[in-house]
Amino acid sequence: MLKRYLLAPGPTPVPPEVLLAMARPMIHHRAPEFDKLFAEVREDLKWLFQTRNDVLILAASGTGGMEGSVSNFLSPGDKALTVNGGKFGERWTKLCKTFGAQVTELKVEWGRAVDPQAVADALKKDPSIKAVYVQASETSTAVAHDVKALADIVKGYEETILVVDAITALGVLDLKTDAWGLDVVITGSQKALMLPPGLAFASVSEKAWRLADKAKNAAFYFNFKRERENQQKSTTAYTPAVSLILGLKEVMNILKAEGLEAVFARHAMLATAMREGVKAAGLSIFPQERPSDALTAISAPEGVDGQAVYKNLRTQYGMTAAGGQDHLKGKIFRISHMGYIDSFDVITALAAVEMVIKGLGYPIKLGSGVAKAQEIIMGKS
Ligand SMILES: *Cc1c(COP(=O)(O)O)cnc(C)c1O
Repeated sequence: MLKRYLLAPGPTPVPPEVLLAMARPMIHHRAPEFDKLFAEVREDLKWLFQTRNDVLILAASGTGGMEGSVSNFLSPGDKALTVNGGKFGERWTKLCKTFGAQVTELKVEWGRAVDPQAVADALKKDPSIKAVYVQASETSTAVAHDVKALADIVKGYEETILVVDAITALGVLDLKTDAWGLDVVITGSQKALMLPPGLAFASVSEKAWRLADKAKNAAFYFNFKRERENQQKSTTAYTPAVSLILGLKEVMNILKAEGLEAVFARHAMLATAMREGVKAAGLSIFPQERPSDALTAISAPEGVDGQAVYKNLRTQYGMTAAGGQDHLKGKIFRISHMGYIDSFDVITALAAVEMVIKGLGYPIKLGSGVAKAQEIIMGKS
């Protein structure tokens, strides 16, 4: 028998009470029972997103929310600035090009965060840029970009919006949507929200809605304006993912009981335990700056193939982590600590990493990383 541990940066583990909520008999989406549920989760989402704006709920993976935040705000020929510091930043560029935007791509070395000054310079050079696209947490490199600093810059431009892919940041990092002025914030269900894949969310500011009024791109399924009209009446334009929304209500109950500050503090503590544990084991983390608290990217040590680590974690110990993408394939492996994760998941992960890397012939003192994490979790370090 091999017990399974899901520690990949999405999908993440789903709490038992959420699984049970989703096993309830189907309800109809045009019936009062659904309207009530939908109205409740809409309010809960405003709390989670720290916004007074509507948070649209879409039946899609996270990328559906990303697509909608390109097609609904840009017209063909419009200028867009994308921050590409990894696989998901690259996706913003591809999406903008797909919808006919003129894209200026700000390339950021993988493992580093964007320099806000570079965004300031790009906007100064071309104030006609309609939207800036960025990740709050770039999952491919485990780096958190400074979206607050970017919001401070974009705020100065009346006709430019900041669009934030917060798919591995919302519910992990303290993102103050309204207070900072994040115009569009996207997340998905299968990361920190502890749900199966299938829901995307988008909060949209008044400034962004004004831009949407002028946009001339084709958007049918991901039509944010039509969704808002329906969702303000507690329904959706098309059939919603009813079971996932039942699960979402349960997730919101869990998060509200814990409290936002405590949710962020828990993620910060687990991330510190993981990163310090990795270092104490004699390994190094990949990010050169601003590591994300959602997951840790660990550099494969000299002579060890990162893909072998990732593969052996699964085959030897039943632990699903993630490898590196593109040129980082073999160079890093990634372990998530977002969502339904606690201290012992981090300890288990560190123990397994130590065992796998030692098994691959690299000298590691078993228990060294685990001990460090235990001290941090106990508050003694
Ligand atoms: C997971 C993820 C996505 C979306 O991926 P989907 O597979 O479409 O859900 C987008 N951006 C980031 C930063 C992610 O981590």
